[in-house]
Amino acid sequence: MILEAVNLNGATVRLTLAEGRIAAIDPVPGPATQTAIPLPVEPHVHLDKAFTIHRARAAKPGLFGAIEAMAADKSRWTPLDLLTRIEDGMAEAWASGCRAIRSHIDWNEPAVPLAWSVAGEVAEEWADWMPLIRASLSPIDLLGDPDHGPQIAERVARDGQVLGAFIYRHPGLEAAIPLAFDLAEKHDLRLDFHVDEGLEVEAAALDLIVAEATRRGMGDRVLCGHACSLSIRPDADRAIDALAASGVALTVMPTTNLYLQDMTPGRSPRLRGLAPAQELRAAGVPVLLGTDNVRDPFYPLGLHDPLESLRLAALAAHLAPDDWVDAITDAPARALGLPPQSLDVGAPADFLLLPAADVLTALARPGGPRQVIRGGLLQTGAP
Ligand SMILES: [Zn+2]
Repeated sequence: MILEAVNLNGATVRLTLAEGRIAAIDPVPGPATQTAIPLPVEPHVHLDKAFTIHRARAAKPGLFGAIEAMAADKSRWTPLDLLTRIEDGMAEAWASGCRAIRSHIDWNEPAVPLAWSVAGEVAEEWADWMPLIRASLSPIDLLGDPDHGPQIAERVARDGQVLGAFIYRHPGLEAAIPLAFDLAEKHDLRLDFHVDEGLEVEAAALDLIVAEATRRGMGDRVLCGHACSLSIRPDADRAIDALAASGVALTVMPTTNLYLQDMTPGRSPRLRGLAPAQELRAAGVPVLLGTDNVRDPFYPLGLHDPLESLRLAALAAHLAPDDWVDAITDAPARALGLPPQSLDVGAPADFLLLPAADVLTALARPGGPRQVIRGGLLQTGAP
């Protein structure tokens, strides 16, 4: 396959694909008519919750209203219901061109949740096509409980997955967060925290995570999501510098933050809740963009598509899409411990081909039209 007039990292080239690899990259004159970017890596979704909005409406506003609505829906989480919804989410991510995907799975009781097992079965089916990595999502007071945390970590370790927790102004964080790190160190696990997803300046658990990761030299194995309070904390500059020095990466999620933050019935939002992505990256923090929830009480719209997250971030965080492709490709790959994917001669011919001269133009219209190339072939359906 020969692709003419392709924008590859800002240069116009002819791409020759052969035997599943990029066989040649030749500069050509003139403007590009299409743009190639690496396949995106989706660092943060919730496949166990997705596609429930038709039956799970939040009665109260904001994050904790969504948590209540989701808890009430869990009686419907049968094996078939979970399997159907998780497979649908995987199919959507595949169609969008994802290379790999990390999904949090709610783990609210000490016992292994059904969704963990069902997602594990789906992950086995998809292993050769689009790896699904599971991260346990427990309230920090469960994971940080010496009676229960060790069992959760043991199971997560046995399955080779990621240990995670939800942290929002819980009491006893000074003890619970180090215990989560103890468990991760003992079992050599990566950590993934939902942290400070709210707009109170006192929500500063990020600082405790960063201090613990720094003390143990574990920053490159820790991923945080949200940190919404950084958008209003008066000491945000200091917190951002410490985060940058630690090596901990941060996922910013425009969908849920725009939807849930500063939500009051009858009143329009004034604060938008996104962590300051530009300042974070400028300080040296690896910044990822995540899709988070899809059509559930946390976010009633959307689809599993990192390109759509980039499009929304362009609007919500004033990001230039061509300068932020890294936030949906290499940055999440590194943070998830996946090998980087470069579009060089000899590399696998796996990329998105966008039908426009640059990413900004390609994202002008909703839906982000694209062709997905895997192994040098145009993807036309399910694997
Ligand atoms: Zn999330």
